[in-house]
Amino acid sequence: RKLGIALVGLGKYSEGQLAPALEETRLCKLAGIVTGTPEKAEKWKKKYNLPDKNVYTYQTFDQMADNPDIDIVYVVLPNSLHAEYVIRAARAGKHVICEKPLATSVADGRRMIEACQKAGRKLSVGYRLHFDPHNREMMRLGQQKVLGAVKKIYAQNGQKEGYDTPWRLNKKLAGGGPLPDVGVYCIQGAIYTKGEVPIAVSAKYHPKTDLKKFKEVEEGMDFQLHFADGTVAECKTSYNDAYNQLRGEADQGWFELSPAYAYSGLKGQTKTGKMEQPNVNQQARQMEAFADCILNNRETTVPGEMGLRDVQLVEAIYRAADTGQKVPTQGIIQQAFD
Ligand code: NAD
Repeated sequence: RKLGIALVGLGKYSEGQLAPALEETRLCKLAGIVTGTPEKAEKWKKKYNLPDKNVYTYQTFDQMADNPDIDIVYVVLPNSLHAEYVIRAARAGKHVICEKPLATSVADGRRMIEACQKAGRKLSVGYRLHFDPHNREMMRLGQQKVLGAVKKIYAQNGQKEGYDTPWRLNKKLAGGGPLPDVGVYCIQGAIYTKGEVPIAVSAKYHPKTDLKKFKEVEEGMDFQLHFADGTVAECKTSYNDAYNQLRGEADQGWFELSPAYAYSGLKGQTKTGKMEQPNVNQQARQMEAFADCILNNRETTVPGEMGLRDVQLVEAIYRAADTGQKVPTQGIIQQAFD
């Protein structure tokens, strides 16, 4: 039997990426939905042939505990709601995938991990790029020092269009602006290219050009991740400028992706030529891998702890930007890099 996944929150990412990806998976399938909008429930029920009993609202969510069709709950809600629904899913006895960023505070992230541990269920964060061959090649080239030790990293992710959904500009719901949303890919990319967790961070906000739109959250920021051997990752994120790059510079040459973080159309180059990697359905591979972990009782390569590590870094980067100081990151989770 295929494992059943219930999507919680039927917004853009669920509708445009996750549900279609689930039609390509062998080990799991779309089995249920959670939505507060009756019209969406009707539309999805028809489109994906879902029985009434597998359609939930946020009020009936906990009744999933009695539904054996649903093995995995995938939380695809605005960021600050991740904690509540991951915890409720774990209490209902389900394995959980939570979208990035894992949480809007370290305290929430810890509660989520504890709830899943207590329930004996697995928790994974929706880091799709760990299942993308181009980004895996960046990990291999950097971590195995194929071109020598990586000495400098550039990671930039800025989005100008489509990131103005009201919750994304609301500090309470989003936890911040571009940093936790698209900047988290720069944090991820730098860490998996270097294969280490940074020992300190520094940061500076971009000046706001639209004070009304960016009343509550930053418009953009430059930040640096400082590694133990002196390597610096220069990172940049924005909701008002478009860039999309991950580059490593090593002793004997450079390697880079541009675009680096998109769903498809990724392109890679190294000093010696084009990176020959396929573009794949990242979300299908990501969900397939998690289903495989459950079926074969293996650890996920993108566990809740990795998401919490990045939430810790996001908090440190905000502290650095707020104070203008370099902020040490001792005590940060040394979760592996995959
Ligand atoms: P969206 O605004 O399109 O969808 C959010 C959904 O949550 C909507 O269906 C909305 O109705 C529902 N919702 C429930 N309660 C809500 C509330 N109180 N306020 C607002 N909306 C509420 O957003 P999205 O782009 O689908 O993002 C959802 C999550 O997925 C976010 O955590 C985001 O970071 C993540 N995401 C990840 C990727 C990726 O590539 N991994 C891409 C896009 C989004």
